[in-house]
Amino acid sequence: MNELLSPAHATALDAADPLRHLRGQFLFPQHQGADQAYFVGNSLGLQPRGAQAMVQEVMDLWARIAVEGHFTGPTHWMNYHRLVRDALARVVGAQPVEVVAMNTLSVNLHLMMVSFYRPTRERPAILMEAGAFPTDRHAVEAQIRFHGFDPATDLIEVQPDQTNGTLSMAAVEQALAEHGRRVALVLWPGVQYRTGQAFDLDAITRLARAHGANIGFDLAHSVGNMPLALHDVAPDFAVWCHYKYLNGGPGAVAGCFVHERHARDTTLPRFAGWWGHEQATRFRMAPEFVPELGAEGWQLSNPPVLGLAPLRASLELFDQAGMQALRAKSLRLTGYLETLVRARLSSVLQIITPAEPERRGCQLSLRVAGGREQGRSLFEYLQSVGVLGDWREPDVIRISPTPMYNRYRDVLRFVEEVEAWAGP
Ligand SMILES: *Cc1c(COP(=O)(O)O)cnc(C)c1O
Repeated sequence: MNELLSPAHATALDAADPLRHLRGQFLFPQHQGADQAYFVGNSLGLQPRGAQAMVQEVMDLWARIAVEGHFTGPTHWMNYHRLVRDALARVVGAQPVEVVAMNTLSVNLHLMMVSFYRPTRERPAILMEAGAFPTDRHAVEAQIRFHGFDPATDLIEVQPDQTNGTLSMAAVEQALAEHGRRVALVLWPGVQYRTGQAFDLDAITRLARAHGANIGFDLAHSVGNMPLALHDVAPDFAVWCHYKYLNGGPGAVAGCFVHERHARDTTLPRFAGWWGHEQATRFRMAPEFVPELGAEGWQLSNPPVLGLAPLRASLELFDQAGMQALRAKSLRLTGYLETLVRARLSSVLQIITPAEPERRGCQLSLRVAGGREQGRSLFEYLQSVGVLGDWREPDVIRISPTPMYNRYRDVLRFVEEVEAWAGP
């Protein structure tokens, strides 16, 4: 066992890592002349080296040919959103017609609920997890009120039923058995942002549909973290952002999935805009709205080209690596973190993320013994030595080793610094 915990072992694991070359494709914040140990890809992914050139290309075209940039060259702006479409579809396991990069996550969530949350007197409710990311709860509550219903009775929140605040499938089953007749929409996360718990999307989709409810996913912490198969799992919709594991940059344009079975449905209510109009006839500028096939039919505005540019560089790397290979490394890398935390830090840190690899992505959420004050002290110490995790009140540090650019040695470094803080 001791040998497995040694620096030599971490170095050997890095040397044997088939994805080790990817790290060099990213820019790392520096600490005293060395790369930070950066474990915050769950919050803001690092900048791919290729991103600047993608942005610069747009700036240069704008300077040189201005409006002609809409129509000129292979990366013309009129179809700029399509430059990321196929690679995105591969990352989320969808058909190209099912995905679009547009807006931001919260906006897309509202747009999707306009189409897929259709409450009636008999079926007015939305079912979601308790403790969801705040924007999801705000959006759901706002939609319920917008339709003239009451969140006090029509927002059903499933409480965590397991120690550590995680939630079993049995709890979801039970909630649907109890309330299913009244549920119009189930909205569920892929990976819970606080606990790092990953859910069985296939099982939840089947459950929701068996109860006659629509089903949508918030995949903010899943996309680029775990392989997805959205087409086969077949929810009605999914939304996600691109600045976390997808490394698209701060405020990056977000993603949206609408299943193919809705691709040609012109009867769905939607908040339309001119960019969602059928592309072939868009510039006839006629008054009637004819939606473009698939997810693109939900676009409102012409694509924010500068906001999309960095994503092209990142998606090239996802294509190079492939989600299966990334996941294979991720299982080993996070497993290594888990082994070290259990063997060396058990008096300081308690892992609240599920232990089963299929019930988590790369993130481990670590509760600091001794409560908030100890937790803040450790967190600030780690920052001061160039080891970056992130903090969740009241006493949790999230550490997300991403297979794209983290090394086994980074993980070891985290463990050694926690030991240095804790003392003998
Ligand atoms: C990060 C995150 C968001 C962020 O929403 P934005 O609209 O991009 O600001 C929303 N939901 C979840 C679950 C998240 O993790």
